Amino acid sequence: MRFLQQLTIPSLLLLVIVTPISATFYTNVSSIPTLHLLNATRSAWETFEKLAGCHVGDKADGLSKLKQYFSRFGYISSSSSAANFTDDFDDVLKSAISAYQKNFNLKATGKLDAPTLRQIVRPRCGNPDMVDGASEMNAGRKLLRTVAAARYSFFPGKPRWPKRNRDLSYAFVPRNNLTEEVKQVFARAFTRWSDVTPLNFTRSESVFKADIVIGFFSGDHGDGEPFDGPMGTLAHASSPPTGMFHLDGDEDWLISGDETNRRIMPVTSVVDLESVAVHEIGHLLGLGHSSVEDAIMYPAISGGDRKVELAKDDIEGIQYLYGDGGSSRRSETSGGAEFWRGLGFSLSSIATCLLLICC
Ligand SMILES: [Zn+2]
Ligand SMILES: [Zn+2]
Repeated sequence: MRFLQQLTIPSLLLLVIVTPISATFYTNVSSIPTLHLLNATRSAWETFEKLAGCHVGDKADGLSKLKQYFSRFGYISSSSSAANFTDDFDDVLKSAISAYQKNFNLKATGKLDAPTLRQIVRPRCGNPDMVDGASEMNAGRKLLRTVAAARYSFFPGKPRWPKRNRDLSYAFVPRNNLTEEVKQVFARAFTRWSDVTPLNFTRSESVFKADIVIGFFSGDHGDGEPFDGPMGTLAHASSPPTGMFHLDGDEDWLISGDETNRRIMPVTSVVDLESVAVHEIGHLLGLGHSSVEDAIMYPAISGGDRKVELAKDDIEGIQYLYGDGGSSRRSETSGGAEFWRGLGFSLSSIATCLLLICC
């Protein structure tokens, strides 16, 4: 299975998997214990740092694990001869490194130089950057009306939510027992996308009826993409219209609602939840990764960073899929919205009355 865009496991299956999560939610920076600051450099992939300087022809402990890393994120095809993951630095690994360097705006040397290794060990989204060795992440396609090059990408086939479904609902896995404060982080994240599209998002209390189901899971949680404990991969999400949004239950999260993009802490192992949520919602709506570092859809984020505001690249990508319904819709009179809300309420009241009468 090549990740969640091909996922067919029903969401319901995940709801019955009992995996205790250890996530802690910090409401502000000052509540984060010093220990987390001291552990800032720990990473699921920190062993890669000792591979610095390796090149074609070398054999070194850890190269097989590095190949698994590149395979996981789509840089080595699962059908490749290198999929046996030996500790040999071969040409397949070299071309994987080159493609990775191109996607992350690094000098494409094909060598494990220091800037490349620093990027590799950063915490990141679990969704792949490439599918079957192909990538649009840094394709730089020309936009029709501007001279700028777009870096956004889509899932293969450009799946999106159907036109009849512009009002999407989301629900939280009940087993996580999330507080209202945590749920509000996700509400803010959804608003950032509804502000620039015709899409609306409303919270549902039913995971069975919701379009999007959000849950924190630890380790192997049944979709073939296990989480890896603190740091490493932080979350992953499916393409439309599957609606599965999973976060690593072993991360520690900051849930303060500070509005701006910035470094909010020294380097730390605590991750800003809204930043990750805005990114994963981009996937849920059909966006792939972007090589623009300021973009929400850039795959990596360091602990202590907050990035919640959509960049031009994100907006152009999402509006390619759904059009610009945001600004024109909000300029409509609120009276009209009130009218429709009122009508909806009246209709639901009538339906309730009919049900009561009929029963
Ligand atoms: Zn991602
Ligand atoms: Zn998952």
